[in-house]
This record gives sequence, structure tokens and C-alpha cells, in this order.
Amino acid sequence: MSQVLSLGRDVKRSRGGAGRIIAVANQKGGVGKTTTTINLATALAATRKSVLVIDLDPQGNASTGLGVPRSARTVSIYDVLMRDHDLGSALIDTAIPKLRLIASTVDLAGAELELVSAEERAERLRQALRNPESGEVLEAFDYVLIDSPPSLGLLTLNALVAADSVLVPLQCEFFALEGLSMLMKTVERVRGAFNPDLRMEGVVLTMFDRRNRLSGQVEEDVRSFMGDTVFNTVIPRNVRLSEAPSHGKPALVYDMRCPGSMAYIKLASELLKREKKQKAALNQGVE
Ligand code: ATP
Ligand code: MG
Repeated sequence: MSQVLSLGRDVKRSRGGAGRIIAVANQKGGVGKTTTTINLATALAATRKSVLVIDLDPQGNASTGLGVPRSARTVSIYDVLMRDHDLGSALIDTAIPKLRLIASTVDLAGAELELVSAEERAERLRQALRNPESGEVLEAFDYVLIDSPPSLGLLTLNALVAADSVLVPLQCEFFALEGLSMLMKTVERVRGAFNPDLRMEGVVLTMFDRRNRLSGQVEEDVRSFMGDTVFNTVIPRNVRLSEAPSHGKPALVYDMRCPGSMAYIKLASELLKREKKQKAALNQGVE
């Protein structure tokens, strides 16, 4: 038993005291990365977990969708990444208890270029999150969700290098599998070169349309290709999910009972259950 406890402490220490860092990534645009980041984060916060969203996309959609206006983004992820600002100085409260944000600004578009010539360009975010001072800041969070941009550029690479795991929203459409295998190859390369412990958190099917036969077919293909990695929970196409960001609210706050919100609540609970199972398996392995 004491062995288990000390292993737990070691795992925690190796993360600089941080909670679990999950990169939400898919190089394909408009597949539901931001919608998943915002609503999964809100659903986790509703279970009294402390959650931090890091908006690593120059579009800033996660920041807008969480109701943080540009005028409130005084210190942003750009400043943390490129200007050595403390992580703590970039934290912004949202209207949701237990959910905080590190916002993005348009400056971040420049970071993609500036990083090309920077030293340790793939590891900037990892260093920013894992230095001792950041460790203290991150200690307060159970989960850190990083929303990434629609490319496999240096920002997404930084997210994958900094993360403990990667969560892939996948739209149920033609060519979904091609995009997924490209992303999996990138994850493999990141494991080999920078982050051997990077895990697959899972694939979540988004914008599922029950009336569309293609949706069902894509689901079948993805499940046979990826097996258990795919979450049982499927996010349906639901207009309330797309309306919510223009009100600066997560769908869970905008309309808690709509099918999209219910699906994200289910996804959060599935993620927590999976984590419990993994921890139990790890502990059994040690005993
Ligand atoms: P980008 O690659 O540009 O960052 P993204 O992968 O973050 O895009 P989102 O912004 O989450 O994707 O979603 C793309 C669009 O689809 C948005 O307008 C969003 O509101 C809408 N959308 C996302 N999920 C759903 C859904 N399940 N049902 C209906 N609309 C959705
Ligand atoms: Mg997005």
C-alpha cells in the first residue's frame, strides 16, 4: 500500500504538481475541438473538479466562447509562451465556478512564425507549464485542457509536447479516418522525439447525425480501426451547441438540457470513469 502511495507522489512530482494536461487536437478545421474543450471543461467543473482551459488557437474561439472579451485578455498565452510571463499572471476567471482560462489573442498568430527560429521551439509550452512556479499554479487544477488550432504546426506541436494525453474530436464525415491516421502518426513522432509518455485520451465522435447513413458508417469504421480508444459517448449534431458561443456561454450554461449538453455531461463522466479504471489497474500492477 505504501508503495502505491509513494508511486502516486512520484507521478505527481514528475508533472511538476500539475493535474492532467489534455491536448484537444485535430489538424482538420471545424471538427468540434473548441466546442469539446469548452463543454467538456464546463461539465468537469460541474462535478467540482478544478479546470483550466488554455486557448492555444490564434482564432481565440475558446476565449470568446467562455465569455471573455478581448479587452479582458491583458496577459495571454502568447505572453507566457514568448515573453516569459508567469502562468499565474495569465489566469482569468470565467463566469463558471472552478473554471479558469488562459486566453489567446491575435498575437499568437505571430508566435507560429516566431517559434520557427526560437530555441527549443517545440518545448516552449512544456517548459512554461512545468517550471517550478507554474507547478505551484497548476497544483490548484485537476484538469488542464488545451484547445489547439487546425494545423499540425508549431502551436499544435507545443500542445502535444506539453500534454499528458491527447483527446481527438472527430467529425463523422468522409475522409475522417485519413485525417485521423495522419494525426496518429504525428502523435507517434512526438512520442519518439519529445514526449514518450503521451497517451491517447481517446477519440470522440462529434456532429453525429442519426438520420445520415454516412455518420453510422464512419462510426463503425472508426470503432473498428481504433477500438476502445473511441469513447462510447457520441456528440450529436445539435444547433444549441453552435448557438451558445455567440452568447459567450458554454452550451451547458446556455441550455443545460439540450441533447448536446447532455452528451458532454456523459462524456465527462465517461472520462472520469476511465481514469478511475486506469488508476485501479496501475495500483494493482504495483501491488
Ligand atoms: P477550428 O478548427 O476552426 O478551431 P474546431 O475544430 O474548434 O474549429 P468548433 O469551432 O468547435 O470546431 O466547431 C465548428 C463549428 O461547428 C462551430 O460553428 C460550432 O459551433 C459548430 N459545432 C461544433 N460541434 C457541433 C455539434 N455537435 N452540433 C452542431 N454544431 C456544432
Ligand atoms: Mg477551434
